[in-house]
Amino acid sequence: MTTGKINVSVENIFPLIKKFLYSDHEIFLRELISNGTDATLKLKHLTSIGEAKVEYGSPIIEVKIDKDGKKLHIIDQGLGMTADEVEKYINQVAFSGAEEFLDKYKDSAKDSGIIGHFGLGFYSAFMVAEKVEIITKSFKDEPAAHWTCDGSPEFTLEPADKTSRGTEIILHIAEDSLEFLEEFKIRELLNKYNKFMPIPIKFGTKKEMLPNPEVSGEDAPEDTKTTEIEVDNIINNPNPAWTKQPTELSDEDYKKFYHELYPMQFEEPLFHIHLNVDYPFNLTGILYFPKLGSDMQIQKDKIQLYQNQVYVTDNVEGIVPEFLTMLKGVIDSPDIPLNVSRSGLQADGAVKKISNYITRKVADKLKALFNENREDFEKKWNDIKIVLEYGMLSEDKFYEKAGAFVLYPTVDDKYFTLEELKENLKEKQTDKDGKLVVLYAGNKEAQHSYIEIAKDKGYEVLLLDSPIISHLIQKIESDNSGLTFVRVDSDHIDNLIKKEEATISKLSEEEKTSLKTVLETIVPKQNYSVQLEAMDSQAAPFIITQPEFMRRMKEMSQSGGGGMFGMGNMPEMYNLVVNTNSDLATTILATEDKTAQESLVKQALDLAKLSQNLLKGEALTAFVKRSFEMIK
Ligand code: ADP
Repeated sequence: MTTGKINVSVENIFPLIKKFLYSDHEIFLRELISNGTDATLKLKHLTSIGEAKVEYGSPIIEVKIDKDGKKLHIIDQGLGMTADEVEKYINQVAFSGAEEFLDKYKDSAKDSGIIGHFGLGFYSAFMVAEKVEIITKSFKDEPAAHWTCDGSPEFTLEPADKTSRGTEIILHIAEDSLEFLEEFKIRELLNKYNKFMPIPIKFGTKKEMLPNPEVSGEDAPEDTKTTEIEVDNIINNPNPAWTKQPTELSDEDYKKFYHELYPMQFEEPLFHIHLNVDYPFNLTGILYFPKLGSDMQIQKDKIQLYQNQVYVTDNVEGIVPEFLTMLKGVIDSPDIPLNVSRSGLQADGAVKKISNYITRKVADKLKALFNENREDFEKKWNDIKIVLEYGMLSEDKFYEKAGAFVLYPTVDDKYFTLEELKENLKEKQTDKDGKLVVLYAGNKEAQHSYIEIAKDKGYEVLLLDSPIISHLIQKIESDNSGLTFVRVDSDHIDNLIKKEEATISKLSEEEKTSLKTVLETIVPKQNYSVQLEAMDSQAAPFIITQPEFMRRMKEMSQSGGGGMFGMGNMPEMYNLVVNTNSDLATTILATEDKTAQESLVKQALDLAKLSQNLLKGEALTAFVKRSFEMIK
């Protein structure tokens, strides 16, 4: 037997390991299974190139709990180690790795968000074990070795009688980590970190109905043909969809994988994007567009990041462009540095390239979907628009490509691209300065009367109802200077869109002046500015409008991101537009009795408020009461 002292500068590194990685003790299992996987894949490689003259077979990794002995076993059938290799790889290499890791780790403050904790490797076992044993037999013709270490730098190394190839790690679980002897806990960890690792992982056994080996022949009774047989319980899928070629996969396969990834998710994804690149960086993955709608749900099923099929994290901030973090799926890339802080990650050139690649792939896919089946794309629009609109606002590269597939729906469910929209509005909807006017509504119900007025005149009205739409409109206008967006209720329609000829006013200048004076004494000044307009006599006599600019600025400051500071506190200011050609205008002017005149104006104002959803509470109650009085 050899005993020795591991060569370390820190006297006792294990308490440090424990302390620094306190919250992430559970990663030890991932690290040890990763080592077993590496050892197995290395053997596969060596046998395939003829360097290892052994049968590769179908190796698995087994995880076993010995609750009474307070031990956890991780057993692989990989290439194993000779005693010399244990000396070298475990005592020297692994240890220096652990030390180096801690050095780095100490510098980056604990909460700055180290995303992986990779690199600690084998020694992470000491986060949960008070003693660790390695019993290993190399594929080479050499005796097995047995290494033991209790967490101090002293170790023992002696021969062992293991005859089968591979490595068994035995963790003597420490008193403060006994949870790792619970079956449900280990199952949970295997499910989280190892669900898609490339070597089958066995955890216990299960019963399955299989052909009965004792019964043969066609005419055996049906119920004896199969029987319950105890088989290995393999917890992982070693060949997850993202490791395959898109040509090997059907739509069904992609959907199946989605549910494998998120077993608690019952909704189907809308579509997927298969990522696959090996130069200048290596990345595979599948992203899914879930149904989002306009209310952004709290996201529990997030995009998962893997490295060589080993789960790392579901915090992909900095790697995936922010607007796409609402998607679901997996990304697997060995090229993402994991022992750096988030800000370090964002500054990393390779990571920036990855993020750009993902943006481009998503844009290409959307364009292809749009071109292949526009009708279907239109049907999905409502569920995907929030991601796309957010992408246009936050990523210039995406904005540039968005013209090819971003849609602008009308209140009647027609869908235009921006180019089509311009074409459609040309010669139909321009303002006094010759700019194309895009009329839109934010809510079909609330702005119903305004929408109807515009439609009656043959104008196109869009339905733009995302919470961030005012920001997007602002961007599109500054980009396409020939376009101006106005909400249907932002002014009277005849002021928004240029008409061939002006309507002639029935009232004289004098009459107009006296009408205005009457109105201004009755209508509250602090909320309404009175404007007289000569319109069709059929148009509504009183209309309340809110200027586009004011409303938009207010919305922008409320939804954050570039709005004007303090605009959220502005009082609501509206225009009261009165149609001087309406019969009501004439009647108001002609009413001599001041009380009667006042109640006419008040009633008309309330009606206008009602159609703008502004009549509420006490005012609404009073209005209803008064109206009943009038008809009784
Ligand atoms: P890393 O895996 O990052 O190299 P580790 O500390 O996990 O670092 O392991 C150090 C070395 O010990 C490995 O590179 C490998 O050579 C050897 N090793 C660890 N676990 C096993 C195993 N299960 N089978 C064979 N060799 C192993």
